[in-house]
Amino acid sequence: MNIAGRIGWAAYLAHHARRERSLPWWPPERLQALQDRRVHEIVAHAYATVGRYRRVMDERGLRPRDIATAADLAKLPLVGARELSEHPDSFLSSTADRSGLLELTTTGTSGQAKRIRHDARAVFMAWAAGGRSRAVAASVPELRPGAPTVYLAPPQGTYARIRDYQRDRVPAALWRRAEPVSVSIDARHADLVAAINQIAPDTIVAFGRQLGSLYRRAHEANLPIHAPRLVWYGGDAMPDADRRLIEERFGIPVFSSYQSCEFLRIAFQCERRDGLHVSTDQVALRVVDADGRDVPPGTPGEAVVTGLVDRAAPLINFRLGDRVALATRACSCGRTLPRLASLDGRVEDLLVRRDGERVHESLVLPRLYRVPGLSGVAVVQRTLGRIDAEVVVSPGFEPGATIAETGIALRELAGDAADLEIRVVPVERIAAGPGGKIRAVTSLVDRDPDPG
Ligand SMILES: [Zn+2]
Repeated sequence: MNIAGRIGWAAYLAHHARRERSLPWWPPERLQALQDRRVHEIVAHAYATVGRYRRVMDERGLRPRDIATAADLAKLPLVGARELSEHPDSFLSSTADRSGLLELTTTGTSGQAKRIRHDARAVFMAWAAGGRSRAVAASVPELRPGAPTVYLAPPQGTYARIRDYQRDRVPAALWRRAEPVSVSIDARHADLVAAINQIAPDTIVAFGRQLGSLYRRAHEANLPIHAPRLVWYGGDAMPDADRRLIEERFGIPVFSSYQSCEFLRIAFQCERRDGLHVSTDQVALRVVDADGRDVPPGTPGEAVVTGLVDRAAPLINFRLGDRVALATRACSCGRTLPRLASLDGRVEDLLVRRDGERVHESLVLPRLYRVPGLSGVAVVQRTLGRIDAEVVVSPGFEPGATIAETGIALRELAGDAADLEIRVVPVERIAAGPGGKIRAVTSLVDRDPDPG
């Protein structure tokens, strides 16, 4: 990009960054008015420039003026991950400049890759909105001004794609000031620990599972590892046992944010770390039951999200597959952005039992982590009669025993059935998916058909 273009984007970033300081504290009516306006604008844009949205609205006799507020999104159908995975181009706006888009690839719910496109405006607004979590991080005591932040990420993953896209669009001097230190997660554990110890960052940002496994393995191998002032994860869940280990044994506060390849900023934790504040200027988030109907705050349901800033490939009422609940009361920090009380990981992170019961990952993982010697695991339920698991066995443990115990635990969790075949294999480390995300539990057993 030429220098004038780069200066333009830097000015755009600065403009939005200024607003970041006050937006999370705006009066609720002002935040709601901004969200309503953006919902209407994105729906009107989708109606005008994306055939699939015009079709579904026409079929329902709806015009853009009928979607004037975020609450009106309930009039529109839900979009499932499979539709996006199978027909990515059907979401593209006719006005999108295809050559200038950020393209991300992520694993779909069915194991298929999804192609997700963002325009530069959305990428830069998400960059500015990152100021919300940076402000929270900066409030952690003992943070040294100018101390390095390390991003642990796969070399070709989502984070690297976004970083390269930003770097190519801002003046080099601005980039040098903003650029964090990247460390590739694609290295042997001992080398990662050595790199962290050498850089001695105040902050480490990574996927939850990777951070968890980094500290768990160091702890188990008695390997000294630098303790930053805080760690921050997003994009997946961190197993509870890992969070406790990092907070209690290493004394490092763990923060998280909620984001995905589809929506670059959804919610973030504040200093209270009691739920996550939703960035209502970036997304409209609904919580729905199995029939696609909105549920009240306090009731868990599936997150359905509309992106408010991305015009390249608008996603309206997109089923994100995460199980969440809205908080019933305001946060004591004073921010007026509403809160998610809980974020329980992917709805698909479940084992399906013969009797139709689903066992959530939050139950599966603690049980597996009690297996002596197990330091990492990835479970794939292929059919009701077949489960495959990969396990990482800690040094000093007899792999045969860990494998046998893992099999017993999985059999218990999946409901003991005579014809259930379980295969557990030891691996050096758990491989990440295309976006760099590690899924601990994946079930390929069919979900109920998409409602709406
Ligand atoms: Zn708060």
